[in-house]
Amino acid sequence: MSDTPSSRPVRTRVAPSPTGDPHVGTAYMSLFNLGFTRQQGGQFVLRIEDTDRARFREDSEQQVFDTLRWLGLTWDEGPDIGGPYAPYRQSERLETYQPYVDRLLAEGKAYHCWCSTERLKDMRDEQQRRKLPTGYDRLCHGKTREERAELPGFTETPVVRMLIPDDVELTFTDLIRGQVSAPRPDDQVILKADGFPTYHLAVVVDDHEMGITHVVRGEEWISSTPKHVLLHRWLGLEAPAFAHMPLLRNTDKSKISKRKNPAARLTWFQEQGYLPEALVNFLALLAYPPVQDEEGNDVEVFDFDDFSARFAWSKVNPVGPIFDLKKLEWLNGVYIRKLTVEDLAARLLPHLRSAGVLPDAPSPEQMATLRAVTELIQTRMAMLSEAAALVGPFYVADDAVEVADDARAQLKDDAGEVLEAGTKALEAVGEWKAADLEAALRAALVDGLGLKPKFAFGPLRTAVSGQRISPPLFESMEILGRESTLARLRRLRATL
Ligand code: GLU
Repeated sequence: MSDTPSSRPVRTRVAPSPTGDPHVGTAYMSLFNLGFTRQQGGQFVLRIEDTDRARFREDSEQQVFDTLRWLGLTWDEGPDIGGPYAPYRQSERLETYQPYVDRLLAEGKAYHCWCSTERLKDMRDEQQRRKLPTGYDRLCHGKTREERAELPGFTETPVVRMLIPDDVELTFTDLIRGQVSAPRPDDQVILKADGFPTYHLAVVVDDHEMGITHVVRGEEWISSTPKHVLLHRWLGLEAPAFAHMPLLRNTDKSKISKRKNPAARLTWFQEQGYLPEALVNFLALLAYPPVQDEEGNDVEVFDFDDFSARFAWSKVNPVGPIFDLKKLEWLNGVYIRKLTVEDLAARLLPHLRSAGVLPDAPSPEQMATLRAVTELIQTRMAMLSEAAALVGPFYVADDAVEVADDARAQLKDDAGEVLEAGTKALEAVGEWKAADLEAALRAALVDGLGLKPKFAFGPLRTAVSGQRISPPLFESMEILGRESTLARLRRLRATL
């Protein structure tokens, strides 16, 4: 099956609704749209589908811009940057839809419906009670306003519904799934009583007006697609190609929702300290196979350009992928280790600021310390948010190191003796360098006191960092300097 059934230049879009924190699915859809579009040298559009005024949230649109930019999934046209098909917000395009509705009404493909919400509810309840197929019973079809007004359950402001023919063909070709058939839909509302189009009309009109050639969206829209195909046909428009991406699922196979899973929110990944390049790689792997290296081994670590270059719809796995955060954590560690120390330190800053470890404008000394510590912890971190605990002890006063309960609990009876011997050995060290510190401490504690390294160095680590787990001990001591290190050892000793 060809990936480009139309000879038009490829144009794709992602069309999030600004109803709250951006959903991780928006990034996932953008990535697959964009991977294909960049490969084809096409254009990618960001359209805001804000016709659902009841669920609209003011700040949501900006969050969509910010999170997609953070991921590097950027668009060529959109509400914030404009483009030849502006406006890109549906609420600003209301006059675009009316002529299409008028045409459908004039041709008898759509009709006004004055049924009140109460009547529709009673109708549905009755259908369910009698175990009949549910759907609009067409009470209004073929009636004038006056005729309908005579009957019960009438409202002043009508909606417009599609008149779905009984013998309608409900199959379409999907780039991922091949031939798809869907159940016969209800007489879909296309224009609401408030004058706003529903999603179904707006999506068809906008995809046409914006020259969209490929509609790449979530699997949950499969049952709507035949209605869209029908609207395209009725309006004499060339339908785009469709690709329905498998839904992201929780480990229990349920659909990822913002109510149940914090990881459904894109901002969560920022808060947790995931790198955008790791998240992009992870989202691609959810529905796309790893690359093979020359020996035929799977290579799971790849960037957007790799992904885009080898993209093919036929390789997208249609089975709902499990959202396995363990895999993301692993990838994140891989990407953290790929960064330069300078870059990693810069990315740690916002996390350290929000944890109160560093001020908004750190001093040059604080930055120098950060670079030195970053080098030590780069291999030990899976998430940027872990840095606060590891880096924090380097920025507190020596008499303010907080000893964590678990660190104190594992101190043995001989901890005082160990700290004293360690202090003595360190006092005699000439040059304050990690290798010399290690040599002196090993000689005094492992050889001298006959301790296993774990017991020899545990109390020192607790004294220096307050933690059971810390950056490498001797390097940490080197960064802290002689005075601070000795002060911290003496301080813990005094509390035992
Ligand atoms: N506004 C729809 C959504 O938020 C877009 C679906 C589509 O891409 O057609 O999922």
